[in-house]
Amino acid sequence: MRVSKETPIEEVKRVGDRCGRCGKCCSYGSGFVLESEIPRIASFLKIPKDKFIKDFLNETEIFHTTVFKIRSLPVDGKPYGPCTFLKKDLCSIHDIKPLHCSMCNCSEHGDDLNVWFMVNHCLNVYDPESVRQYCSYVETGGRVIPGAEVEKLFHDEKLLKQIKDYDRFR
Ligand code: SF4
Ligand code: SF4
Repeated sequence: MRVSKETPIEEVKRVGDRCGRCGKCCSYGSGFVLESEIPRIASFLKIPKDKFIKDFLNETEIFHTTVFKIRSLPVDGKPYGPCTFLKKDLCSIHDIKPLHCSMCNCSEHGDDLNVWFMVNHCLNVYDPESVRQYCSYVETGGRVIPGAEVEKLFHDEKLLKQIKDYDRFR
């Protein structure tokens, strides 16, 4: 089975649950948090939303959509380090961890699961800049899962060309 854009979230979580909980990946980086997940995690930590964002997250963008990355703790001057929620090789927010952490793993499906997350939660087909960035990602060799091919997502070829050309002439 290959994960596709249309794979239901329950199936994605089931595949994503193939994790031996060794903590290795969380020792080198952290997951993304969607804006909609912030209240749930902040409530679990018993802190206000704003404090959770300020103390634990870095704001970033994927395909022109705001997402938050859980802060990691760089060690020995390296640009990466363990996730701030990793305690003794275990996730201290496991029960309520964000979707990205629940589904992305080191199995043979890991890369596709990551793309599933980006395509379904970050790509905004109503935002021309998001579309343009996705097209650029694909054109430069970014991984594509079935159902997320540019021609399948965007049927209006004329509009798509205008969106792509806009960057070249601005
Ligand atoms: S929140 Fe938990 S699962 Fe996600 S990166 Fe951090 S330690 Fe790992
Ligand atoms: S996804 Fe893989 S590396 Fe990460 S904790 Fe699970 S088994 Fe370990």
